[in-house]
Amino acid sequence: TPGVPHTILGQPDSLFVLFFTEMWERFSYYGMRALLVLYLISEASKGGWGWTRESATSLYGWYTMLVYLTPILGGYLADRLLGTRRAVVLGGFIIAAGHIALFFDTRVSFFLGLGLVIIGTGLFKPNISAIVGQLYGKDNEGARDGGYTLFYMGVNAGAFFGISLCGYIGEKISWHFGFGLAAVFMILGALQFYLGQGIFGDIGAAPDKKPAQAVQEADDTPSNVVRDRLIAICVFSFFTIFFWFAFEQAGGSMTIFAADYTDRTLVGTSGTIFKIANSLMTLIPVAILSALLIQLMRGTGKRYLSSNLLLVLALGLIWALALWMLGREFGFDQSEIPATWFGVLNSFFLVILAPMFSKLWARYWNPSGPVKFGLGLVLLGLGFAALSYGASGIPQGAKTAQISMVYLTLAYLLHTMGELCLSPVGLSYISKLAPARLLGLMFGVWFVNAAIANFLAGFTGGYIDKISETYSMSVFFLIFTAIPIGAGVLLMLLNPWMKKLMHGVR
Ligand code: GLN
Repeated sequence: TPGVPHTILGQPDSLFVLFFTEMWERFSYYGMRALLVLYLISEASKGGWGWTRESATSLYGWYTMLVYLTPILGGYLADRLLGTRRAVVLGGFIIAAGHIALFFDTRVSFFLGLGLVIIGTGLFKPNISAIVGQLYGKDNEGARDGGYTLFYMGVNAGAFFGISLCGYIGEKISWHFGFGLAAVFMILGALQFYLGQGIFGDIGAAPDKKPAQAVQEADDTPSNVVRDRLIAICVFSFFTIFFWFAFEQAGGSMTIFAADYTDRTLVGTSGTIFKIANSLMTLIPVAILSALLIQLMRGTGKRYLSSNLLLVLALGLIWALALWMLGREFGFDQSEIPATWFGVLNSFFLVILAPMFSKLWARYWNPSGPVKFGLGLVLLGLGFAALSYGASGIPQGAKTAQISMVYLTLAYLLHTMGELCLSPVGLSYISKLAPARLLGLMFGVWFVNAAIANFLAGFTGGYIDKISETYSMSVFFLIFTAIPIGAGVLLMLLNPWMKKLMHGVR
């Protein structure tokens, strides 16, 4: 019935098209990213390029920086020329073309592939984040924060499957099949958005046809209010530099530590715990996604559902196959830890914890944005405190070292809790604070700060060996404890000022 919007889980049903599109895009992004350094440093005999870790980390830093730098252009283009939806379609297919290029085994196609993913992500990422916000207005404003949390679960469901599947296939079968898998799912994701976009009506269709229900841009907003809110966006995104810098740095250094767990067989109690954890990590995200799909099918019979159903079925099949091979080839009963195991912990914890945080904000405690952001930074710092404690036995200059699984897991848990206070909350605030005609650009600003952070993390990551000669790892992690906590406390102190700048946006 026209005029009566369908809702599922209290959200507009169109949100789920965005959920799945973003899920497949992140599948390809994180899947490819998980392979990149491993591919570059592996020897030519194993199909790699034989680069040093330093050069590989540096290329990785440049790549992840550029991927988050182009959104400022993509957001601007959508605001001025394309509209958010056309930018997402165009970006999605350009990213897919990039992954197809990476499937081929030449230097030229490799760099061409990276370039295309960089350009495509610039068009895709800020604008799909913007469309989420365009779904809310006067009638359903209360669902906005929850909508962004759900969307962010899609991000991490994609990361989870991408890292584990592309990681596994890339490492164990062929690098290029791993890249190719990213291509397949990006194509399917872009197709389902393209075919399903009728559900959006004229939301995001063109830059000049702003949906009537987008309230925040109302032309009668006094210009000083607009200005103040833009300043608030800049402050929020500035503080994300501290967060993503430390967060990516942790990911990088933890991968180095976790690499020591590869090929390491766990026996006894830790083996049993690992086996149980590993099964849960497989089953829980699959169960959550299936539940979501069932909800969707109950709610509406729109045609986009069949395309999503196919995607999830395909994914389930591949997943089952991969597990079976993993079990066969590596003897799961010996509880061997695959290299990507620690890498997927973050996205796993996120998918599990997101509904709890959503409930916490909605029902029990809903501090203002700057306080949540500050809390996120403090939690990140605490994660590093756990790492620092866990690394206290590692002597200065040690080339390889192990941190107990307990501290690595605890760090990932705290980092993920911090991420939930900051990242989906931030997206929602940008969508509320930005005037509609600058929406894409403001999401671009948000991601540019992630670009700066990724560059910094790549830079220090390249020097990690030298750093560990000068400082012990424990001290290194303590620096990363102090900086985010300091930044977090500062932002909490700025709360009254920020509240004034936001002029009533909560
Ligand atoms: N996990 C987030 C995503 O991929 C992080 C993005 C960011 O802002 N750095 O969407």
